[in-house]
Formats: sequence, C-alpha cells, structure tokens
Amino acid sequence: MFKVLLKFCYKVVDFLFPPSCPLCGAPVSLHGELCSDCWSSFNWISNPKCIKCGYPFPADIDLGLEPLCPNCAAGKSALDFVRSACVYDDVSKAAMLPFKHGGKVKYCNFMSRAMMWAMQDMKDFPDVIMPVPLAWRRLFHRGYNQATLLARPISKVMGLKLDLDSVKRMYRHDMGHKNPAQRAENIHGVFKVIKPDKICGKKILLVDDVMTTGATFSELKQVLLKAGASAVYGVVFCRVVKAI
Ligand SMILES: [Zn+2]
Ligand SMILES: [Zn+2]
Repeated sequence: MFKVLLKFCYKVVDFLFPPSCPLCGAPVSLHGELCSDCWSSFNWISNPKCIKCGYPFPADIDLGLEPLCPNCAAGKSALDFVRSACVYDDVSKAAMLPFKHGGKVKYCNFMSRAMMWAMQDMKDFPDVIMPVPLAWRRLFHRGYNQATLLARPISKVMGLKLDLDSVKRMYRHDMGHKNPAQRAENIHGVFKVIKPDKICGKKILLVDDVMTTGATFSELKQVLLKAGASAVYGVVFCRVVKAI
C-alpha cells in the first residue's frame, strides 16, 4: 500500500515538475539527467587511458592492455588509482563554476553518476569514501563542500561509509594560476588527521570536483598513509589534461 502511494506521489511530482535537464532545461526522462545535447558536449574520458591515473590517450593509439602515462611510468602518480569523468575544458568549467560557487548543487546528480561510470574498472574496492576536506573558513563562506555533495550519492550507491571528520584542513590562500611546484608547496601541511582510529587499516576513496596537478591528492595521500591507511584512491568529476 505504502509503495503504491509513493509511486502515486512521484507521478504527481513528475506531473507538476516534469524532469528537465539541469543545464539547459530541456525535457528529459529522469530527474537529474542531462539531455542528449548537453551530454554529448562534454569531453567524457573513456579508453584508452592510463591504468593508474586515468590520463586519456588518443583513441587511435594502441598501447596494449595496460597503458601507463609517462608520469605514472616514472612513479610520479599522485595516487595508485584515479579516475575522472571528463576533461576540464570550457564545457565542464561552465558546469563546475556554478556548482562550486553559484549554489547549483543539483548538478551533483549527473556529476556523481558520471564519476561512478568512470570508476567501472576499479579492481580494489575501498572501505570508506572521503570527500577532500574544505577549510572551515571556506565552508562558512560557501555554505557547502562541493566534494561532499559528490561523495554522498557515490557512497549510497557503493554502500560505503562516508568519512567527513577524520581529517581537518587548514585555511590557505587560493592556489589558482600557480605552477605545479608552487601548488605542491602551498598545499603542504594543510591536512591534519584528527581521528586516526578511523583511518588505520582502511582503503580510502577520495572524492573531489576537479584535479589540476594532483598536488592535493598527493598531499592527502601522504597524510593518510602516515596515519595507517592501507591504500588511497581518488575520483573527480573533471581533470586538467595537458600534453605529456
Ligand atoms: Zn541540456
Ligand atoms: Zn598515469
């Protein structure tokens, strides 16, 4: 009886507020879904890609079954497994900025769905999911941590606990437009594990909106491994892809 009532309620909601593309408003079949035009405008990352960091290679290149990018081949990868749903470009930026700074929190539905799709080839299942922490001062100004919004639906679908309080992030000035070395220096020492018992022995999947140089993931990984984490992986909605 309850299920029938719930179904009826959903039908009424759909009738009053028909599902529409969160980006352009075109009608779609499911709430939170992108229309086909918006979907195809993103540069989604598929194979071939680096098995470690997910760096996308040109489609016509044959690098064998387990391709590695020069960075990962040289042992410089931020994490042992990172996946990104799409490339950071004008299209993903136009969705990211209002999501991060403009209160368009409903974008987290299609973004998190795309991130789960990007993790399909993950072989080692994590124990917990951790959104990259935001400094309290930024959280206060923004009102939300965009990484937590993305991590919540992923943790629900994967049936994993969300860890929101084991690591604290200190406030530092924005890293925008800094080179990789400056970004790494700027992020050094900002994370502090305050609940090591929740970290020890755990395989942790970090969630963030964007990966630029990988400095944030790399720094957080060092801190988590020091606190006893057994493995650290990552997933983002978009990543900067530069020729390497
Ligand atoms: Zn659309
Ligand atoms: Zn790589």
